[in-house]
Amino acid sequence: MPSDNTMSPSRRKLMQGATAGLMTAVAGHALAQSESSANATGTAGATAPVDPRGLYPHPPFPAQEQPWPGLAGRMTPRPDHGETSYRGTGRLNGRRALITGGDSGIGRAAAIAFAREGADVAIVYLPAEEPDAKEVVQFIRAAGQTAVALPGDIRSESFCQSLVNNAVQQLGGLDIVVNNAGRQQSHDSILDISTEQFDWTLRTNLYAMFWITKAAIPHMPPGSAIINTSSVNAYDPSANLLDYAMTKAAIANFTKGLAKQMIKKGIRVNAVAPGPFWTALQVTGGQTAENVQKFGEQVPMGRPGQPAEIAPLYVQLASAQASYVTGQVYGASGGAGNP
Ligand code: NAD
Ligand code: MG
Repeated sequence: MPSDNTMSPSRRKLMQGATAGLMTAVAGHALAQSESSANATGTAGATAPVDPRGLYPHPPFPAQEQPWPGLAGRMTPRPDHGETSYRGTGRLNGRRALITGGDSGIGRAAAIAFAREGADVAIVYLPAEEPDAKEVVQFIRAAGQTAVALPGDIRSESFCQSLVNNAVQQLGGLDIVVNNAGRQQSHDSILDISTEQFDWTLRTNLYAMFWITKAAIPHMPPGSAIINTSSVNAYDPSANLLDYAMTKAAIANFTKGLAKQMIKKGIRVNAVAPGPFWTALQVTGGQTAENVQKFGEQVPMGRPGQPAEIAPLYVQLASAQASYVTGQVYGASGGAGNP
């Protein structure tokens, strides 16, 4: 992490703003927006080039572990989901989005960005994640948009069907679906992965995506977008993430195949493949305790990404401006890229 002395004045101001706390961020939304025009994140409004190496915390990180599924609000340092920096320009005005895992991490950053771009947003999360979800709901409402909270377990097909129906009813329609919820648990050996664990990973990462997508498509008009969250693990599987990595490869494959079908309905289907991002997934069994402390060190950038740094890809893929983009997998992995 850059020391205070090496931070630009605008960066220091932003960091001070960030520590002022969430409620200030919600209440002072207009302030956050105007601050962002002077920020160094490059999320929006930046006029000068920004060196990405100097941004955000670098490893080593403090040792930490939370019981799964964990809370972003209890991580040290707190991930940056764009709460004080993301500035919309109306790119999703009038759109209606469903985001699974929208309480924390990458899904939360997408939810905040979508709302500030003018979309109404429904988020799905586990009941244990209510504290994170409540904050996201406040951010969506602070952006002047409708927020729908849908707690439940997507390993159930009937819940997946009902969550889509509820989103459609409460949003008044649906034209963006982000399949982003995920399960990742580190196991050193295949011999340590029980059938129950294997099933849990596949149900969360694959079956739920299949069920939610199937339930959503009949409601989605031409011009809609489906965005799935794959991973760099789809191409370069980590030895300790066998079951997880295979689901991420399947998600990329499903995305490409479904895109070929769905273009006949005018629906675009794409995926985002993140590298290491600083989220609750990693501190709740997704990585060994040792890997958490040096998280992101291995990529050329030398640090993990923050969710705020990947949300713009979701906005781009959801936006009508990406009208020729379908069947693609967009990476963001700090330099250790896709093939
Ligand atoms: P995260 O823990 O903040 O988000 C994952 C979310 O999945 C949770 O918030 C939870 O709401 C949801 N979820 C998990 N199981 C669920 C269930 N049974 N029912 C309902 N919801 C459930 O972590 P994240 O890193 O933001 O993860 C988002 C996506 O990004 C995941 O698909 C993950 O595989 C992918 N990804 C993350 C990284 C990374 O380094 N963080 C890298 C590549 C891909
Ligand atoms: Mg969460």
